[in-house]
Parts: sequence; structure tokens; C-alpha cells
Amino acid sequence: MLNEQVAKLLNTQINKEFYSAYLYLDFANFYKEKGLDGFANWYQVQAQEERDHALLFMQYLQNNGVAVSLEAIDKPNIVLKENIDPLKAGLAHEQYVTDLIHTIYEAASEAKDFRTLQFLDWFVKEQGEEEKNADDMIKKMELFGSDAKGLYMLDQELGARSYTAPSLTL
Ligand code: MG
Repeated sequence: MLNEQVAKLLNTQINKEFYSAYLYLDFANFYKEKGLDGFANWYQVQAQEERDHALLFMQYLQNNGVAVSLEAIDKPNIVLKENIDPLKAGLAHEQYVTDLIHTIYEAASEAKDFRTLQFLDWFVKEQGEEEKNADDMIKKMELFGSDAKGLYMLDQELGARSYTAPSLTL
């Protein structure tokens, strides 16, 4: 039986991951409208990954006999104007998600819930990768994005990203 507070935070995280997927679809749509299909593809793949994260939290709770409660997903409300805006909002969002994961980690640690800590280890590492990816994209955009040819090359690069299932299995 999972600690009640830990289970509650894990259930909330399902919603946060679905919101992340929703937010990244919003970013994908922004780029799609601008004709930057490569950027749109990158965020569509990212949205699929976030959905996977949500399902992993869901399955973890179910594997431990906890009933899942799905809540309403917020409307993405970030104002996007410049091409770099989603990239910056993406980094800020991942930093926020890192904080959420760390809060659950802290609660699990206090409750001596070693099973959940082991489950969360994958997400702690994953968040490090997410923040690095987001930061790298901002740097590349700042370096090459203001030039039409550079932006085209960057769009091609991001268009090559394809979906792979998460390395964590439950
Ligand atoms: Mg995630």
C-alpha cells in the first residue's frame, strides 16, 4: 500500500503530464501555422512522450492497487508570437515539471517509500534530459534562427525526430 500523500501526488502528476502533452501540441500548432513543419514535428513527438509519462504514472498507481482519478486538463494559455517563444516557454515548463517530480520524490523519501523512489529515479534523470534538450534548442535558435537559411536547416533537423517508446517499462 502506497503512502496516501505520495499516491495523491502521483495521481496529480498524471494530469500534469497530460497537460504537458497538450501544451506541446499547442506549440506544434503554432509552428504548423508558421510553415515550420520540422519544429511542429518535434513538439508532436514530445507530446507523445508526455502522454507516455502520464500512462506510466497511471500504471504505477494501478500496479500498486490505487484507484486512478482523471481530472480536467487545463487549456494551454501561453501567448506565442516569436519563433523562439515556445522554446523558452518549453524550458520554463520543464523546470516546473522537474520541481513537481522532486516534490513527489521528497514526499516518498519522507514516507520511506522505496518502491516509489526507485520508480521516480527514471523521471529524475528524464527531467535532466528534457531541460538540456530545451536549453540546446534555445541556444541553436539564438545562433541560427534569425537567418532564413539557418532557420530552414534547423527546421530540417527537428523534422527528423521520430517517436521512440520510453525506456522505462512497468
Ligand atoms: Mg514529462
